[in-house]
Amino acid sequence: MQNRLPTPIPTNPGLTLKKKPADPRRDLLKAGESLQRAPAPVSEGSPYLVDPDRLGEVVGADEPSFRSDQLREWLYRNPVLEARDMTNLPGDLRGALSHRLWPFEVEEHQSADRGATHKWLFRTGDQAAIESVVMGYRTRTTLCVSSQAGCALACTFCATGQFGFERHLQAGEIVAQVAYANAFLRDHPLRNSPTRVTNVVFMGMGEPLANYPRLRQAIGLMIGEMGMSARSLTVSTVGVVPGIRRLADDPWPVNLAVSLHAADDELRSRLVPLNRRYPLSEVEAAASYFFEKKGRRVSLEWTMIRGVNDHRTQADRLAAIARRLRAHVNLIALNPTPLSSDMPSTPQAIRRFAAALREGGVNVTVRDTRGTEIDAACGQLRVRSGRGS
Ligand code: SF4
Repeated sequence: MQNRLPTPIPTNPGLTLKKKPADPRRDLLKAGESLQRAPAPVSEGSPYLVDPDRLGEVVGADEPSFRSDQLREWLYRNPVLEARDMTNLPGDLRGALSHRLWPFEVEEHQSADRGATHKWLFRTGDQAAIESVVMGYRTRTTLCVSSQAGCALACTFCATGQFGFERHLQAGEIVAQVAYANAFLRDHPLRNSPTRVTNVVFMGMGEPLANYPRLRQAIGLMIGEMGMSARSLTVSTVGVVPGIRRLADDPWPVNLAVSLHAADDELRSRLVPLNRRYPLSEVEAAASYFFEKKGRRVSLEWTMIRGVNDHRTQADRLAAIARRLRAHVNLIALNPTPLSSDMPSTPQAIRRFAAALREGGVNVTVRDTRGTEIDAACGQLRVRSGRGS
């Protein structure tokens, strides 16, 4: 069932929406180089795009200094959907913020799983698409955030990869996804789950480790400004080896999820073209370094694709890697994408694969496919919206 909600969500008429030409950077190696150069846009005026220590510039020079602390509290600790609900701010400041509180508009909002899953397609002023999904569970509420608009890495089974790369998201655009979900949950609490985001996974659109400086800033804001625990944050990568090592060397005890999807270089290079640059042995060595530095167990993500990577041979090879890394394996059935003929593995094949891993001494979880009746896998809402750049 697809449930389009009424729209209690403010849009942002202050933003100018301009259509951007298609980004031709689909080739992996070229895209990998251009990733480093793609600029983030200049601030569109949202306070989320302003350094929290400089919010005085947003509230105005005439305002007392405590005003910026009040605004800071509203933005990060106690977010609201509309500036008019920032009750202790003066009316003219609320009015000035009302059209530029968020750095994006809500283009589409869907809910599924009887209200336990919500997905948003946000659109920034320069037409970049951002997707976020919040999923309520009994003991946690997890938000999946995007770190880039689009993605250059072109994994064959991924809707985002099929559209190519638009640009890096700014740290404020990443953090605003968390703030927005919290503001939404304040007005629409989930029935049997925490009413705030307790966990953030960087598994939405984009490769977070290809946008490292802004990822780092966003993690700092989530911990320092929002009061989240580093242990509740999970960075997911398809194997950007230098990024894994940098994350290991950074101080926060965040979690690392490596999306493996194949346990030999030949198949992996087909599914995840980045493997040609960073082959499995290097990815494994970097994951091992992360585990040694952080003392935190790495998880290996495996999208189950029918007849492609759900064979016994792959399970045995994966088990060997997982044992060496002392890693946990998460299996998830493919969410089919419109531009690929790949299908999810059958439930029986997933059970057999999981059993083979367990026989091999590996901890494994078969993850539920939340929101399959909406377009919950990353990039799917954008594909269907037909507005990819
Ligand atoms: S799976 Fe992740 S890294 Fe691969 S194309 Fe999709 S968003 Fe990019």
